Amino acid sequence: MKLNRIAAGLVALTTALTLSACGGNSEGQASATQSFAEGTTMAKLAEAGTITIGTKFDQPLFGLAGPDGTPEGFDVEIGKLIAGELGISSDKIKWVETVSQNREPFIQNGQVDIVVATYTINDKRKEVVDFAGPYYIAGQSFLVPKGNPMNITGPDSLGDNVICTVTGSTSEKNVREYTDKVITVDKYSDCLEPIRTGEAKALTTDNVILAGLVSQNGDEFEVTDGTFTSEPYGIGLAKGDDEFRAFINDTLEASYSDGRWAKAWESTAGTVLPTPEPPAVDRY
Ligand code: GLU
Repeated sequence: MKLNRIAAGLVALTTALTLSACGGNSEGQASATQSFAEGTTMAKLAEAGTITIGTKFDQPLFGLAGPDGTPEGFDVEIGKLIAGELGISSDKIKWVETVSQNREPFIQNGQVDIVVATYTINDKRKEVVDFAGPYYIAGQSFLVPKGNPMNITGPDSLGDNVICTVTGSTSEKNVREYTDKVITVDKYSDCLEPIRTGEAKALTTDNVILAGLVSQNGDEFEVTDGTFTSEPYGIGLAKGDDEFRAFINDTLEASYSDGRWAKAWESTAGTVLPTPEPPAVDRY
């Protein structure tokens, strides 16, 4: 009798959603065997069985829309890892294209649950969103026509050359410290045509984005050596959702130690770039 009452009390108390999805694998199957406390974002997403993820659609190696519109790349694989820990398989993820300047508003408005989109963690952005990670550290560089006709070797050798970059990116802010001859567009791929026509002489952003664009365009372009900034890539989420941030950080760390992170890299960006060491997550 007493035992029964305790048991009943426990059932009432244990309102936490227990998720016990089927055993998964690294091919994007649901793999969660976790319980999430009721009311948390994790419980809501697990219960809904779907997650909306913002990523880039025009960046080879990190996020590039494939023939059926589904994006592919390292950011996409990171998104799948997080979804998998929530028991959500890849085919249940809703992918939304985010460009650099709409990432914070999309998170703030709830149009996406997370953003995984070559998204640099910085204090300005942290005023309105939070970040898990970093899960990779890039650095800013320049893409120029093959042979580098204007001899652009870094931010100190830009001269009067017009440089193309993307509105609302750290790339724009950083390069403006060296020149005011800057044109901006919505997406990095939109800078390639101005370089072909001569309207711009270089595109500047993170080296890995540039490497992807070079790899996609045969022998047309090259990336200059070296980087002049540090761009820690984070997973953007709603400001103040500390439990969700801790969960994503835990997921990243687990993927570092069990090889899922390395596998995600090797199957995407790693086809062109060397495999780095995963960076330490920053639980600020
Ligand atoms: N990582 C930089 C940023 O978050 C440049 C790349 C991008 O715009 O996605 O702004």
